[in-house]
Amino acid sequence: MHEALDRWFDQVVPLFENGKAPTIIDLSRHFSETRGELMGSVMQAMVEKAYHHHIHQEQAICPECARILKRKRFDRKAVSTLHGEFTLNRPYFYCQICKVGFHPLDDVLTMAPERHQYDVQEKAVKSASKLPFEESADQFSSLTGVDVGDHFLHDTLNAVGDVATLELVIPDRKEIERRIDEVSRSIGTPPILAVGADGAHMPTRVKAKRNEKRGQGSWKEAKGFRLYLVGEKGRIVQIASWHQIQDAEAFRKDLALVAGRIPQDRVRVALLADGAEWLWPAMTACFPTGRPILDFYHCAEHVHEVGNSLFGKGELKARQWSEAILSLLSYSEMDDVLAILRGMRPETEETGEKVRNLAGYLEKNRDRIHYETDRDDGYPIGSGGIESSHKYVCHTRMKRSGAWWVIASGNNMLRIRCAIVNGTYERVFEHYATHPRRSDEGC
Ligand SMILES: [Zn+2]
Repeated sequence: MHEALDRWFDQVVPLFENGKAPTIIDLSRHFSETRGELMGSVMQAMVEKAYHHHIHQEQAICPECARILKRKRFDRKAVSTLHGEFTLNRPYFYCQICKVGFHPLDDVLTMAPERHQYDVQEKAVKSASKLPFEESADQFSSLTGVDVGDHFLHDTLNAVGDVATLELVIPDRKEIERRIDEVSRSIGTPPILAVGADGAHMPTRVKAKRNEKRGQGSWKEAKGFRLYLVGEKGRIVQIASWHQIQDAEAFRKDLALVAGRIPQDRVRVALLADGAEWLWPAMTACFPTGRPILDFYHCAEHVHEVGNSLFGKGELKARQWSEAILSLLSYSEMDDVLAILRGMRPETEETGEKVRNLAGYLEKNRDRIHYETDRDDGYPIGSGGIESSHKYVCHTRMKRSGAWWVIASGNNMLRIRCAIVNGTYERVFEHYATHPRRSDEGC
């Protein structure tokens, strides 16, 4: 370590030559350029000291048959960390009978099979989940001095995404209970747990084979849910977000797994969604005591559309009519509203159709419309919570011009982004770094 430091001191000397003193910028630039070499050498010295025995070991035991093996050779490996790069000569052992080869040093060091180690990978994947791969690689190297490259970012994000199952991405039961307890204590009653569900269309494409032209993309629905607690003064306390491009059945299974982690007797559940048919059966099955609430803003949008069609967009009368209907709805006067709608004789067939649709929509969602009681009981009436989750988790990274996602990669990206939002990313990454991967090469 002293040698490394001496070499580094020698590099500083030219900065002070010709009677010139360096500026802060000069010093900072110099440190950026030389710290990797200095710290890499220091780290190498530490590893060689701490693992002297492993580095020089001549014998190892075969993990399969327990025979004693003699060292076959040394393999050099470039090791890149956030603080610098160095090389290690690792002894290699091979069992002729079991046909297995291994580097014992790699295991004791929890070394990544890639050149870039897990400290780099963890931060780089996080960064690639926020920005397009190329932009993210540029930014990462300019900030850390580690050149990761966009392909490495893409592949690593997918490898981490592959292990990011729902079980890992959703906080465990203990953590969920801790968050519920905290809110319960601050408001003095069992808190409201809002469960929102919604779909959003994502640009997808089929994976092209080598030398094959990419086919035309198509829009597929990412189905998602978000669970959050309504805390003091309406503060939102995140429990879990999960969004995947998948069908309604897979959505139901995922929601059921999360519902199983919620102590439902310690919260008051509000189920919030628009009128989409695929999500209600899953929500009510997973949260049987939940209060279903039709998103007020979707409902209001429908009403305003009909008002505009009846009296002309932007007309005072259109607004008055819509607001009258909405205020009846908020006092749960559903029969009055339906009677008004059925008694209307619109001038055009098109408007008549719209009025009938609205009546059908309200009737179908009748049991989910009780906004006055909801307000009195402190329940949210809008699905804004799930919509902002959709916007943040899906849209900001997935819907960029020219981006068409192969479904598996798109879902991997969504899983990583959900893990970050749920506060479980470190756990997911830890799992990735400590479990064998399919892509691990033997050597
Ligand atoms: Zn063996």
